[in-house]
Amino acid sequence: MLIIVDSTLRDGEQSAGLAFSTGEKIQVGKLLDALGVDVIEAGIPAMGRVEQEAISALIHAGLRAEVTSWNRMHPADIKASLECGIRLLHLSAPVSDIHLEHKLRCSRSWVLGQMREMVAFAQSSGCRVSVGAEDASRADPAFLRAYALAAEEVGVERLRICDTLGILDPFKTYEMVRSVVEWVNIDVEIHAHNDFGMAAANTLAALRAGARAASVTVNGIGERAGNAGLQEVIRAARQFFGLKRGYDANIMDQLQSLVRALSYREFPEVKEAI
Ligand SMILES: [Zn+2]
Repeated sequence: MLIIVDSTLRDGEQSAGLAFSTGEKIQVGKLLDALGVDVIEAGIPAMGRVEQEAISALIHAGLRAEVTSWNRMHPADIKASLECGIRLLHLSAPVSDIHLEHKLRCSRSWVLGQMREMVAFAQSSGCRVSVGAEDASRADPAFLRAYALAAEEVGVERLRICDTLGILDPFKTYEMVRSVVEWVNIDVEIHAHNDFGMAAANTLAALRAGARAASVTVNGIGERAGNAGLQEVIRAARQFFGLKRGYDANIMDQLQSLVRALSYREFPEVKEAI
């Protein structure tokens, strides 16, 4: 069984110049739900009131899909999510030394301690939790293992392995995810970026290695070259691995057209100055 985690409204929205209105988020969310995706990653509540209103509206839209939010490992982020009514919360932190040093300015042990504390805080507030390992592709495998084991120990229900910079190929993806799947007994999710045009291929490699969940976006929109595409991943998983997952082609068409229209941006041509 393939678990689809759609991040069109979170990572997809990180495409240059793109911001969905609340109404647009609801429209996209309803079509994702009608299509049958399992989890809708609706946004980042810590970004502020407008984002919180949109996420809260989605939670209360009566969808069958679970609505989740993206959070850093900080109490303020978790509180902002709780205020929206989130019950499945995603907590994320970098796991590569280069990101820990330059982005977070924190040590490996701080990340492990903070993860334990923040997961406990979210759980004690009535949430189930998934945890993300950002820049896992450049992490020291020993630390990635420690992070995965700690996540399992504190009872998170899914571990997201992120190729944040899109630098993996399918062979490396397979090896890395295979190791993670052997280390822990929780569901593993792959989050791939398309910088080398391999997001969908890497996602499939991860599924073959034992990942159960795929993070995707409609039309593959997202930061830089984008993410793995929802339609490609569902169709390829079915074609190559026989993962049974039907969807209504008509709804998929509507969803793709809607997101294409909402995310289309015309960039002015740069002309050489005379
Ligand atoms: Zn991403």
